[in-house]
Amino acid sequence: MTIKKVGVIGAGQMGSGIAHVCALAGYDVGLYDISKDAIEKGLATINGNMARQVRSGKISEDDRKGALERISPAAKYEAFGDCDLIIESAVEDEAVKRKIFTDLCPHLKESCLIGSNTSSISITRLAAGTDRPEKFMGIHFMNPVPVMELVELIRGIATGDEIFQEVREFTGTLGKSVAVAEDFPAFIVNRVLLPMINEAVYTLYEGVGSVEAIDKAMRLGANHPMGPLELADFIGLDTCLSIMQVLYDGLADSKYRPCPLLVKYVEAGWLGRKTQRGFYDYRGDTPVPTR
Ligand code: NAD
Repeated sequence: MTIKKVGVIGAGQMGSGIAHVCALAGYDVGLYDISKDAIEKGLATINGNMARQVRSGKISEDDRKGALERISPAAKYEAFGDCDLIIESAVEDEAVKRKIFTDLCPHLKESCLIGSNTSSISITRLAAGTDRPEKFMGIHFMNPVPVMELVELIRGIATGDEIFQEVREFTGTLGKSVAVAEDFPAFIVNRVLLPMINEAVYTLYEGVGSVEAIDKAMRLGANHPMGPLELADFIGLDTCLSIMQVLYDGLADSKYRPCPLLVKYVEAGWLGRKTQRGFYDYRGDTPVPTR
């Protein structure tokens, strides 16, 4: 394996988690975000989450120190010139991701592989906008990255077999398990999960149940560890809406139309946990339903 340094783009909830697991696995990590604040917040989250892992005995204090030293904030893409793999994890917006790749590629060495952590966007289309479609693929981590075992791997139409195998080996070194998905809108996990979440929002919209009733029903009635509205807040309502939009546009089937209530929450800037308010209000000691 030739991967030694990983460049992570986007230091939000997913990017910081990806930097966390890569650094703990011994890789050097560069962490870039368009917002300096996001990088600082991301590093603080990594620090806090690693401290929790030390307290619960999952890693040692030396592991934590070593991993933190391996992560360097990057102010520009120039800092990624020595990276062997880039994992892009910026907002779920195709135009933003395409612009990132256009700006990034000239600074990468020829052998550098690129993975996108997109939840839903076509890997083939993103790859086609780069100078290396054969070295591009989907590496879809789950939230929270340090806890969740699965990584979905998605081949674009041009992705080389060797590259795919190398990335598969790489995800193994992070202690993750792989499910391989074909490059169709939202792949496997979100193709199944997001319509369920969207339906839960419709259930709320139509007054079939309250936020509390819907979540309780699915936790205790379907044995889900989290209710669908809690889970939507956890994922981020903007990300949920983008995924539904990709399903709706990509599969041209009205069964994927995003619920207007989900749109309204996003328009209000109530994006879930990351903005302290979504289907629940997280500003107090315990989450309070907002409907
Ligand atoms: P987030 O909102 O927490 O973070 C997104 C980050 O991208 C922000 O820090 C933002 O400043 C940054 N950003 C925006 N424009 C940028 C640019 N031009 N260059 C660099 N950084 C930029 O979102 P997230 O939940 O971390 O999602 C990131 C990606 O991971 C998305 O593609 C999402 O679909 C995917 N994903 C999310 C989840 C989830 O549960 N939230 C799970 C798997 C995959």
